[in-house]
Amino acid sequence: AKDFGRNQVVYFSDTLDKEIKAKVHLEHKLRQAISDEALTVYLQPQFDAQKNRFIWAEALVRWIDKDEGFIPPDKFIGVAEETGLIHDLGLLVLRQVCRYLQQHGKALRLVGIDGIAVNLSSRQLFAKNFYSSVMEMLASYAISPQQIEFEVTESLLMENTEQAIRLMQLFKDQGFRLAMDDFGTGYSSLAYLKQFPVDCVKIDRNFIKDIPQDEQDKEISSAIIAMAQKLGLDIVAEGVETIEQSEFLQAQGCRVMQGYYYAKPMPIEQTFNLTADFS
Ligand code: C2E
Ligand code: CA
Ligand code: CA
Ligand code: CA
Repeated sequence: AKDFGRNQVVYFSDTLDKEIKAKVHLEHKLRQAISDEALTVYLQPQFDAQKNRFIWAEALVRWIDKDEGFIPPDKFIGVAEETGLIHDLGLLVLRQVCRYLQQHGKALRLVGIDGIAVNLSSRQLFAKNFYSSVMEMLASYAISPQQIEFEVTESLLMENTEQAIRLMQLFKDQGFRLAMDDFGTGYSSLAYLKQFPVDCVKIDRNFIKDIPQDEQDKEISSAIIAMAQKLGLDIVAEGVETIEQSEFLQAQGCRVMQGYYYAKPMPIEQTFNLTADFS
């Protein structure tokens, strides 16, 4: 038994060692990619079924490494958060978004897109210079806050509710839009929603993906939509992949849809060719 135990220890520390090395390697590469501006930003359009056109788009960071190829955000956002690289990464994303709006604002409006939503990680919102960095960035590209939405997650806000509300209000007062991302996955209840100065709720893909088969998911999405409507909030459904999902959500009162059924995340140039014909 003792030998077995020793082997276990050796085995675990080996894995741990490999994991740490992989993380350090990734951190090193990510730091380099950020300083080279080797990360790009894709846009995923959001479709308004009532207006029958795209209205807005979400910015999603993309990293194509020359050795390892495509590295998905779920692999490196966590590392960026742990190492503090998220601050530079976040500003890089915002800078590209400002550049898109400055250089291609007209082309985006032609296909219906009025603004771009940007994901915020925990730590970014609470960082000391975040607000002033954002305002400086927008000013330097002559972008108005009305063209930007920040998507925040529940878990971020629950860390420090009062400060989060204060910071969010600061952005709201400037005219930014705020969205509650991944709604329903956190540990807060619908009642918390009222506290935060958000304009919009994004229903998490996990509640959408098994519609129409899963009765419980249908109940949950309907409840989120009904509650958001009562609170006067806009609603965006994430990860809509089928016409059945879209029709169900529309019947429940959700107008705005984001997902592969309508459009995948794409380089900005591709958005100029979008056509909205889903009837
Ligand atoms: P998220 O904010 O929930 O973004 C939605 C994710 O769902 C994106 O994954 C998007 O590509 C994917 N998606 C959209 N429609 C569909 C669909 O119909 N089916 C399926 N299966 N997936 C769909 P992505 O781009 O891999 O990003 C993953 C997560 O990484 C994001 O989740 C977000 O939390 C984070 N992330 C991405 N870009 C940024 C960024 O610039 N900053 C920060 N802080 N986080 C980011
Ligand atoms: Ca998001
Ligand atoms: Ca999500
Ligand atoms: Ca997420």
